[in-house]
Amino acid sequence: MPRIFSLPGKVYLIGAGPGRADLLTLRAFEILRRADVVLHDDLVFSEVLQVIPASAVVLNVGKRCGNKKFTQEQIHERMTAEARQGRTVVRLKGGDPLIFGRAQEEMQALREAGIEFEVVPGITAALAAAAAAQIPLTERRSASKLLFVSNHQCDKKVLRNWRSNVVSDTTLVFYMPGREFSELVEDLRGGGLAPETPCLLVSNATLPHQELIRTTLSELSATLAPPAPSLLIVGSMVAEGASAARQGTPGFEETLTLDENKKARELDRKDAAATSALDLPSPFLAHKLFGPFRSFFDEEAHSRM
Ligand code: SAH
Repeated sequence: MPRIFSLPGKVYLIGAGPGRADLLTLRAFEILRRADVVLHDDLVFSEVLQVIPASAVVLNVGKRCGNKKFTQEQIHERMTAEARQGRTVVRLKGGDPLIFGRAQEEMQALREAGIEFEVVPGITAALAAAAAAQIPLTERRSASKLLFVSNHQCDKKVLRNWRSNVVSDTTLVFYMPGREFSELVEDLRGGGLAPETPCLLVSNATLPHQELIRTTLSELSATLAPPAPSLLIVGSMVAEGASAARQGTPGFEETLTLDENKKARELDRKDAAATSALDLPSPFLAHKLFGPFRSFFDEEAHSRM
């Protein structure tokens, strides 16, 4: 029978978390499993994309410095047009959608278009990186403040004024830290941070190729940046992490390749190999990830049939 009436669709701004699919929230997972259209950023990793059913249209609308796949306006238009067709649209962003994710522009466009939307939070990279290094981001005696800073290299007009007075009991987390740290070090030193302030670079947090590099402010300029995506944590809490497993890499005070991380990476590799060897389609991955919730998802699937 032809469809005469179609219900208005809805857009979900979903946080994909830092990389691993089992760090998605259950709500994110459930919505992704019934999505008609998914518009995702570059920083959404393949393990998460496997959760999306084969029937959904999946578009990478990611942006990089000077290399835009879709303009911001095209993303707004596409989300709006798809929702108006009655579809379930997911705008999938790495980490949490409300942190350095242009969510404001997208929510504004949806409001102006009169499209219903919901934000589903995700685990932001800072939390994943701290968990990987086993460091607290706050501590009641010596780190009462936590500052998330964008160090975006595409925009050289970023305000640097705040750095002129860095409060000592603060943990600083730099997203998009870039590959060259001398300017940042100069600012932080000028802002009053001691040369021995501990620093930690975390690359690909939660992913099999996760890398942690522990250094100090005085060594940071000479430190080789790890592969993107990475973030930089600066503050006394960084010293709380487990001790170094390897020393002497040029430019690094010490390189943290924790035994635990090595083991986790080996396990992840085995997991990944097992999954790809069987070439499991996403429902199987879903069951593998969310086994305890299997009956819930089975019921969901039946109710949609
Ligand atoms: N909305 C995202 C941040 C987007 S900005 C969030 O909440 O996490 C992109 C920056 O996030 C990257 O340049 C990097 O600094 C950081 N990032 C994202 N995923 C990461 C990961 N798995 N490991 C380390 N840093 C990551």
